[in-house]
Amino acid sequence: MSQADAPAQEKFQPLGDGRFTFACHPGVPCFTECCQKLDLTLTPYDVLRLSRNLGLSTGEFLERHTRLDLERPRDFPHRKLAMNPDGRCPFVSQTGCRVYLDRPGACRLYPLGRGSASGGGTGPTREMFFLVREEHCRGFEAGPNWTAREWMADQELDVYHRHNDQWMEIVTRHDLKASPVSEEEATRKIQMFNLVSYNLDRFREFVLGTRFVDSFELDPAEVEAARAGDEALLELGMKWLRFALFGEPTLQPKALK
Ligand code: SF4
Ligand code: SF4
Repeated sequence: MSQADAPAQEKFQPLGDGRFTFACHPGVPCFTECCQKLDLTLTPYDVLRLSRNLGLSTGEFLERHTRLDLERPRDFPHRKLAMNPDGRCPFVSQTGCRVYLDRPGACRLYPLGRGSASGGGTGPTREMFFLVREEHCRGFEAGPNWTAREWMADQELDVYHRHNDQWMEIVTRHDLKASPVSEEEATRKIQMFNLVSYNLDRFREFVLGTRFVDSFELDPAEVEAARAGDEALLELGMKWLRFALFGEPTLQPKALK
C-alpha cells in the first residue's frame, strides 16, 4: 500500500484486462514493512468492520484509532487511520495484521488502484484499474498471476466497493466551499455527514430514538433490517444523507395530518 513519504517511488501502470504477478505472505522479505507511515483515509464501511472486529463502538473506535483530516476545514471531513507514535500501524504485529479479516479496503486493494464512476446512479458502475508498483515491495517477484477481477474476488472487495461507491458519490459531488450555504448551515451539514459516515452507533440511536422512523414513508422490512444490522443501517444512512444534504428524493417524507 502507499506510504505517505514515498510517492516518488510509486509507479502507476494502467492494467486494463491485463494480468499481474503478486503474492504477499509471511515469507516475503518485506513482510509488514508497508504497514507504517500510512496516509490512509477510512471509509464508513472500514470504520464499521474495524470497530466490530475490535469489539468497540464506532465512537470508541473513532476516538482511539482515527484522526480528522484537517486539510479539509470546510468540506466533508475525512477520517484517517491514526498511526502509532513510532509510525507503525496500530494493528500490525510480527505475525501480520491483527485485524486481517476486517482490514480496510485500501489494504486489500494493494497492489491495485481503482477509479470508479457511477454515472449518477443511473447506470452500472464503470471501473478502471491500475497497478501501483512500489520499489520496496517484493510481492511482485513471485506468486499467482491475477486479473483485477480475480484479485478483487480473492480479497473479498466487492462488498467494500458496493458501500464505498455510495459514499464516494456523496463525497465527490458536493464541495461546501463552493456552495452558497451559510456558515451555520455548512456546519450543520458537516455534522450530519460526520454522524452518518463515521459514527454509525450514534446514527442508530438517532434513527430509533427520535421521530425519524415516523417522519418518512419507510418499508417496515427496511426499518427492521436497519434496527438489527449494521449494513442495512449504513445503506439507510446514505439515502438520508442524499435527501438531507442535496434534497434528492431518496426518502419520502410522510404527509402532515
Ligand atoms: S490494517 Fe493491517 S494490513 Fe492495513 S496497514 Fe494496518 S496492519 Fe497493515
Ligand atoms: S509484499 Fe508488498 S504488500 Fe506485502 S508486505 Fe511486502 S511491501 Fe507490503
